[in-house]
Amino acid sequence: MSQLRLNPLTGRWVTINAERAMRPTDFATRIQTVESDPSRPCPFCPGHEDPSAPAMLTVGDGDDWKMRVIPNLYPAFDGEDSLAVRNLGPVHVMAEASGTHEVFVFTRDHHGGIDTFGDDSCGQIMSVLKQRLLEHAATRNIRYTQAIVNHGREAGASLSHPHGQLLGLPFVPGEILDEERAFVRFEGGCILCATVESELVSGERVVLATDDAVVVCPFWSGGPYEMLVIPRHHDQHLPDASDESLAGVGRAIRDALAHLNAVFPDVSFNLVFHTAPHQHDGPFHWHAHLWPKLTTVAGFERGTGVMINIVPPEQAADELRRVGANA
Ligand code: AMP
Ligand code: ZN
Ligand code: ZN
Repeated sequence: MSQLRLNPLTGRWVTINAERAMRPTDFATRIQTVESDPSRPCPFCPGHEDPSAPAMLTVGDGDDWKMRVIPNLYPAFDGEDSLAVRNLGPVHVMAEASGTHEVFVFTRDHHGGIDTFGDDSCGQIMSVLKQRLLEHAATRNIRYTQAIVNHGREAGASLSHPHGQLLGLPFVPGEILDEERAFVRFEGGCILCATVESELVSGERVVLATDDAVVVCPFWSGGPYEMLVIPRHHDQHLPDASDESLAGVGRAIRDALAHLNAVFPDVSFNLVFHTAPHQHDGPFHWHAHLWPKLTTVAGFERGTGVMINIVPPEQAADELRRVGANA
């Protein structure tokens, strides 16, 4: 069972979970307690479905499924309790890490990356995401759902089959609270609507722009080739967005990854969706961050939270844009 522990220096929760060290991995890591075994069958490939852990959602029929959302066998968050905070001492504050942890298998194809997906698959991924978020929103103890994709060992992936994860949390994480506060603080309307408007004027940080989404290397990029995917339509929560808008954003994410892969073939990355917390109604504009894993966060960055980015976002966007033109 996972535990939440509060870091009193930052006010942020930490999750402690020893069982997750036992999860299988395709990649060798420094701290792993299980051997990586390339001959081990992939649990996400067709034919290896676990009948004792039925899918929460399936696209396609029976054995012929196209996408699946399944319970994570090594959940970091699990259980139906609401957040019950206990003070074990003046600086020892903890709670059970209740919630849900799901794996979203994007495709039957073990080697098919998102950058190669057809338009239909892009729309289906976003539609599944919407359906799971709606279900989480209706689940009493889930306050926020973090959807992520880890691709590649350096980005923290343990399995290489194309997949994402949905973590339904019993609290709203600090990163989201910070973004919510920023939307409230901003006086010129919506931060991300204003970003789209001003970035399209010069175009120097724009990677691609469609009717549904604008992908930029943000002016404030903390790392090389970082991208921000901004839906053109202003919606607070991801599930507020229309199916057309969602499908368009899905295609823009696919294209942004294709541009990234053209510059750095099979680079590791984290893709992270940020949406307003389920029951919150304050200003927000859902979006996705795409962080290629090209450098290591070192002492200065960890110590101060101040990132040092060695590639200006204008240069990164220029390179990413150009490979698109040649594709
Ligand atoms: P990642 O670590 O980002 O590659 O995500 C893979 C996730 O799959 C991890 O969170 C594992 O806990 C989870 N996992 C590993 N094996 C299984 C399995 N057989 N069924 C369901 N989830 C699994
Ligand atoms: Zn596989
Ligand atoms: Zn964000």
